[in-house]
Parts: sequence; structure tokens; C-alpha cells
Amino acid sequence: MRFIPTRPPRVFGVGADGAIKLKECAKIELAPDEIVTFRAEGTQYDVTRKDFGYYAMPSLNRRLGRYGLKAALVKSYDATFYVMLVMKDKVKEFRRYLRETGQGLAAWLDGKETLERLAGRADQRDLPACLCGSRSFDPLFHYSSPPAGETGFRFSGGKYLRDVLRCSVCGHCISVHAMRMEGIYGGGYVDATYGSDGMRSAFRKIVRLRRTKSDNAGRVRAVRAFADRRGGPRRHRCILDVGSGLCVFLRGMKKAGWVCAALDPDPRAAKHARDVVGVKAVAADFMKVKPFGRYDAVSFNKVLEHVEDPVAMLARARSFLNKDGFVYVELPDAEAAAAGGPGREEFFIEHHHIFSAASFGILAARAGFALKELERLREPSTKYTLRGFLALP
Ligand SMILES: [Zn+2]
Repeated sequence: MRFIPTRPPRVFGVGADGAIKLKECAKIELAPDEIVTFRAEGTQYDVTRKDFGYYAMPSLNRRLGRYGLKAALVKSYDATFYVMLVMKDKVKEFRRYLRETGQGLAAWLDGKETLERLAGRADQRDLPACLCGSRSFDPLFHYSSPPAGETGFRFSGGKYLRDVLRCSVCGHCISVHAMRMEGIYGGGYVDATYGSDGMRSAFRKIVRLRRTKSDNAGRVRAVRAFADRRGGPRRHRCILDVGSGLCVFLRGMKKAGWVCAALDPDPRAAKHARDVVGVKAVAADFMKVKPFGRYDAVSFNKVLEHVEDPVAMLARARSFLNKDGFVYVELPDAEAAAAGGPGREEFFIEHHHIFSAASFGILAARAGFALKELERLREPSTKYTLRGFLALP
């Protein structure tokens, strides 16, 4: 450590009219890992020189408070930002100083919630652009633990921290976090969602639902009605359901006389579709599988919100579609669900995207489709859903 006193101290004026006189008294040169401690009126503050720079030592939400200080983020009139350390019993004086110097308190940096929020923000440096192209997002919900009812996916290490952000242009929402949960739609998703042998019993439970209690009955009705409105073949219409899961939807379509095919990345879901529902089933990644037929309809029931690039996945449907075929898409409705708060299932972690009416339209257009009909509904299961029909332009 080298201490170089300035004798006599260098005095200079700051502030609007130079009325505040500061005295520069000394320079201290530190080698890496050397600490200096500043003391005043029973408070103290220590700074360590590191090989990378300086380490402001006391933790903002713990030790700094024990030293009688709290940190404030201050915004000046010209949008410059400062960190100031305030003696806990001098907050009034601090506020007066801010007023007199034209500065504003942006945030106290001692509350865990504020700090967690900033930490969450820091993890989001590499935000993707919204479907609409905007990069301007506003925070909607912040999670420091999983909301009740969220599927307990296993994550590799670390604390649960997640944000739902809303595009300030189109209202589309994205869920962002730094936890690793890749590959969950192989075996992991079925395991986590239904348990290891739960598909059959989950299926039985759902098919026993009364028609008025069943999301799938409404879905089957909507698709059949649209097909009738659109015209085309009346008999032997065929449909491919992408991400067939429990296959309750195709069970209904099959009963209605449609020729059905299921596709699911999980081999157990495909086997279940084949064995229990009795439809053609392919276990494959939709983005990689070679097109195996042309269909009058391709459906994505609550599927596209689970993938990072829904435009690419939806665009792929064109290779499976008859010339005058249509695509049926269901997506979680962010605009309606937002009023229900952060606990709504539409915002659960497995959804990368939660849609607005505008972003539904943008998704369709970017995937090369024309949006023919769009409906906003609350389903019997209480889900807020956007339901749309797309066709080739
Ligand atoms: Zn947007």
C-alpha cells in the first residue's frame, strides 16, 4: 500500500454554482488483495483492490446494514447514475441533498426483492427479439420460487429464478431464466407430467369427463365446424396432430369419422396413440422427420408455446398440408391470463411463449400462413386460450 497525502489538500467547488467545496486529501495505491477501510460516525466501509479492479466488500443486503449504511442508486437530472452509501440515521439529510442537487433516488439497493429483480435482469442480457421484431420488453412477473401447481421439472443446480417479460409493442410474453432444462420432451416431460406409467390413467380420467367439462370436446367441435365452413371433402378427411400427448383430441376426431395420425417426440406417447386410441402414430421430432403424408388439417394443440422457435415449427406444417388444407392452432392467451396474476398456468415454466392476439397473427404470417379465424376463449379447464385457423394464402 502506498499512501500519498496531498499537502495542502486540493480544494475545488462543485454543484450548480460551485458552492460545495470538496477537499482532495490523499491518494492510496493498493496492490491486489489489499484492503482499505473508511470510517465515520460509527459506520465503516471497506474496499479491496483485486487483480480485476475494486471489490466493494460489504454485501448490499447484509453486512453493509450492520455497518450502519445502505446503498442507493441515484439518477441525476442528465440520466447519469451513481451509487451512494447513506448512513441509516441520515436518510433525511440524504433526501434533502438529492433535492438540492437535482438528483433522484432510483432505488435503495438493500432490499432482497429489488436486488433479485436486478439479478434476474442481469441474466437476461441476451434476450431474443420478440416475434414482432421488437427488443423492448417490460417486466410482467418475477418468480423466485416455482408457482403452485407448476410441474416439478428437475433443473441442473442453482436457485429458481425466472421472469415473464411482455413485449411493449405487441403484448407477446416470453419466459426467461438461466436454469437448464433441455431435452424435457423426450422421456422427461412424460415422466414429470404424468409419472412413469401415468399416461393410461390420465387418459382414462380425461375421456371420462362430461362433454361440457372437456376442453377436447370443444376443440373437436371447433375443428369440425371450421372444416364444414371451409368446404372440401366431406368424407375421409384426414388430420395430423403434432404433439399428440394423451391423444384425447384424436380420439374425438376419429369418432367423428376423420382419418387420424399422431406425432409425438416421446415413443411412449406414440405407442399409447397406436395401442389405446388406434390411430397411426409416429414417434419423431417434427422438425427433423421426413414428411410422411399430406393432410386436410394439421393441428398444434398447446404445442408451439413449448418451443423456442414457434415460427419454424409452424412453417414446417406446410410440408404436411394439402393445397386447400388448414392448420388449427391453440395457444395460451397472455392478455386474458395476465389479469389472473403470476400463478396462472399459462405462465408456467414450460411455456417459452405466451401469446397476444397480435403475436398470434404475426406468428401465422411469419410462418407463411393467412390467419382465417381467431377466437379468444376460456376453456372448461379454466385455461385462457387463443384458438385460430390458418390456411395457405
Ligand atoms: Zn412483440
